[in-house]
Amino acid sequence: MPRKNKMSYNGLSLKEGVFELQEDKLREDLVFYGNKLVDLGLVVASGGNISARFGNFMLISPSGLAFDELKPEDFVKVNLDNGEVVGGGKPSSEILMHWFCYRERKDVGAVVHTHPTYTIGVVSAGKTIPPMFPDFVAYVGKVAMIDYCTPCTQELAEAVLGALSSSSAVCMVNHGLLTVGSTLKEAFYRSVVVEEAARVYFIASIVGSPRILTERECRSIRELDAEKYRIGLLKNLS
Ligand code: 13P
Ligand code: ZN
Repeated sequence: MPRKNKMSYNGLSLKEGVFELQEDKLREDLVFYGNKLVDLGLVVASGGNISARFGNFMLISPSGLAFDELKPEDFVKVNLDNGEVVGGGKPSSEILMHWFCYRERKDVGAVVHTHPTYTIGVVSAGKTIPPMFPDFVAYVGKVAMIDYCTPCTQELAEAVLGALSSSSAVCMVNHGLLTVGSTLKEAFYRSVVVEEAARVYFIASIVGSPRILTERECRSIRELDAEKYRIGLLKNLS
């Protein structure tokens, strides 16, 4: 008896086809958010790197290329079990930093590393970035800080991982910022909001003395239903 035709997409089984479509979508999202980072000035030249978890793999930006020159197919696929590249390409030189985040934090779906001017300036002057407006409290809470480490080293990757136990945003003195999120959008928003907070703090320090939100004020913001709704929107989308 002839076998019933299995449904297929692009010569693949339906399941494989859906997987491929999801990977294509994620690659497009990576290009989209990479371009946004450039537009917002969170990186210059070929600085920074981004990645997103895809099943048992991560898709990570290639080394040494600016985000606004990347195409979806340029993102490099890396096996999260052994750190090996699948299908070619030269992954970001901060591959360890990204890999450790996914390996140790199952809740992390995306990692964004940037070199934002105000964040680097404030933390490299020995100050932390305090809560001064509601979106910082809602989306970030607080930032962790790590001392300077040579970029692209295991030492840096381990320091970042350690700092992630207390925050989803890690400021690296004399280097930059790393944020994680359950989705690319959440990790991206966190980076944008940290840089905005550094800028607000800088301006307030020049104009007078910054008024920092108190712990009680922060708690009231976190408990708002309106904020819970707004945070929830970032978690289920890419
Ligand atoms: P890559 O171009 O290798 O990703 O490195 C950029 C960077 O920010 C190093 O910290
Ligand atoms: Zn960097």
